[in-house]
Amino acid sequence: MEKLDINIALDIVSRVGEDSFKALGGMLLASKFYHYLASHPIVLNNVSLQPFLADASLINEDSIYRPFFRLCLDSLNPTAAYLESIRLAAKLGRAEDALRLLYSSGNSPPQAWFSRALLEVCLGFYQESIATIDSFISSIGSFRQADAIGSTVFKHIMQIGPVKIRSHANTWHYGDIPTCFATRCRIDRRCRQCFLYWFSVMYLLLC
Ligand SMILES: [Zn+2]
Repeated sequence: MEKLDINIALDIVSRVGEDSFKALGGMLLASKFYHYLASHPIVLNNVSLQPFLADASLINEDSIYRPFFRLCLDSLNPTAAYLESIRLAAKLGRAEDALRLLYSSGNSPPQAWFSRALLEVCLGFYQESIATIDSFISSIGSFRQADAIGSTVFKHIMQIGPVKIRSHANTWHYGDIPTCFATRCRIDRRCRQCFLYWFSVMYLLLC
């Protein structure tokens, strides 16, 4: 492969990378050429980070995958930006930096969109958070699916390891506390109206 045109080689590696970053991890170790190739920002911007989404603890500082993750983050890979924002907020208590990172990276993966609403309400930007969560739910299309995405974000928070210092007790602001408790709506059985409310309460308890 060393004799291939660099652009063709990059295209091939991009396709490998979409399947799994673990293939790229092997390439990183194989030779200087592959190291250059696999470290190329175009590859790392597009590479699938599914293994990190399956186990977000792999992005932590003590993980052997952290250097590779860091390269993907520096290449503006959207999944890397989402996961790093969760790490900054949940593990380091740096929710402001996390929200800034989310603003810079857009609505993909959908967990990033949900997380933006979550951090907005926890940092006191209530109106913005309601607008964000409304556009998120209508874009996802079904409440059940939106709820599943929100639950995934909390799975990632638990995998990364939240600090539990309740760092947002003073900034969290929910302007219109839901009144659907009479309908047995609860933290583990949310209705559409109080979707973000319960998730933000969960965040307050964990982070
Ligand atoms: Zn409710």
